[in-house]
Amino acid sequence: MIKNNMEIIALPANSDNYIWIIRSKKNNNAWIVDPGESHRVIAYFQKHKLVLAGILLTHHHYDHTDGIAEIVKQLGKAPVISNAHGPYKLVTQHVNEGDIIIVAQEEFKIIAIPGHSHEHIAFYNPKALFCGDVLFTAGCGKSWCQSAKVMAQSLLKLRDLNDDCSVFCGHEYTYTNINFAAIAEPDDEDIKQRQKIVKFNTKKGIPCVPEKLGIEKKTNPFLRFDSGELKQTLLNKHKLFENFSLGDNANLYATLRAWKDSIDKTGVLEDNVK
Ligand SMILES: [Zn+2]
Repeated sequence: MIKNNMEIIALPANSDNYIWIIRSKKNNNAWIVDPGESHRVIAYFQKHKLVLAGILLTHHHYDHTDGIAEIVKQLGKAPVISNAHGPYKLVTQHVNEGDIIIVAQEEFKIIAIPGHSHEHIAFYNPKALFCGDVLFTAGCGKSWCQSAKVMAQSLLKLRDLNDDCSVFCGHEYTYTNINFAAIAEPDDEDIKQRQKIVKFNTKKGIPCVPEKLGIEKKTNPFLRFDSGELKQTLLNKHKLFENFSLGDNANLYATLRAWKDSIDKTGVLEDNVK
């Protein structure tokens, strides 16, 4: 897909990860986002005679970083850019909230979005958002080590960004996510429509990532838990999940998360894909 000065290519990795390649349209430079493995990346660079300009890391998890050592060894040294407060040792250029970096002649702003991991960041340009495992298409990542409040704040921070920007997330979970969205908001026409498209594409093996943030705002329950019918549903439902009290965004988010987790375990969200 083409984004003015840059072209963004998906390389599927592991079972459901995406490694993103950002190619400059002006020269042979290319950046890699979250390389969880090396072979396909190196083959792609060699095939297209690309020069490694840098590696962007949203967070330190192995399925986003395992390819780095071999990539740098094979393709040559380049800056490895990530949060100054992360644990990953191969990072060479540390960034913080609000910093601007230039990638393929485009400015990207660093946005801190802790929750899935404490140092998680997003790389944001009005045309493209690389958000790792915090926001997924039609869903969101798990908050492994931090409170529901922190994760809820990060999701709502992303919701403030430009509708027109494309969401490039770290995994392809759109099908199960939109099936949950249809359970969470069964009367929503936008969700029904998106569910049809996602089901069709998934059956054909067509990626459902990226998606426009504007579509996410309309159909992703994890960007909608604080308003409308979904909020009322969650207020009614919170009693099913112990330890949550009524009221703020953190509890609404936590109730939604617990609800999805309970349905995930049953496997029904994966039905009918084959
Ligand atoms: Zn992760």
